[in-house]
Amino acid sequence: MKAITDLMKELSIPINRDNYLGMMFNGDVPDPVPAEIEAELPDKFQMVDVETDFIAEVPTVAEYEEKKSVLQEFTTKTGGELVPVGSYNLTGKKKPPYGNSALLSPNAAEAFIQMNRIYKKETGKELIIESAFRDEEHNTRVKGSKTSNHMEGLSIDVKDPHCRAWIKQYGEAYGWHFGTYEGNKNHFNYGSQ
Ligand SMILES: [Zn+2]
Repeated sequence: MKAITDLMKELSIPINRDNYLGMMFNGDVPDPVPAEIEAELPDKFQMVDVETDFIAEVPTVAEYEEKKSVLQEFTTKTGGELVPVGSYNLTGKKKPPYGNSALLSPNAAEAFIQMNRIYKKETGKELIIESAFRDEEHNTRVKGSKTSNHMEGLSIDVKDPHCRAWIKQYGEAYGWHFGTYEGNKNHFNYGSQ
């Protein structure tokens, strides 16, 4: 693994995920990248683990107001409403039916948006999330738990270390709790642990 980045340095190839994979597969990168390969990548290049799939940068609700009507066809597993809270960066990833929209149940969405507003005030940046609502197919594809709260729009996965640490510290005030199940690194639930 180390040899690849060393080679990239020697050849002055910018060290990023795409270039790394390009070197690894000699330009013929499989899409999606198999999970076992993903797990072998250096941490900074990983995009997938057992629960997470992609990265979201979360803008304001206003930008998503117009999208709402398009997204109304999507409901939680038990038929609940979903609200867009941001958009994912899905470069090279298979898109779920709701495209690059990060969706959450209304109360969870409101709490998330408030939390993001405060985070932005403090840091000047948006919270970055990997995953929010997932329909059953999407949830199965990323190997989510069969009873995952993601299917009710009540969970987010946060892999970015700064964002994750911040939500761990301040998220409780907004109703976002770090999931307590064993092995969890990235998962937060709204309203319950
Ligand atoms: Zn999760």
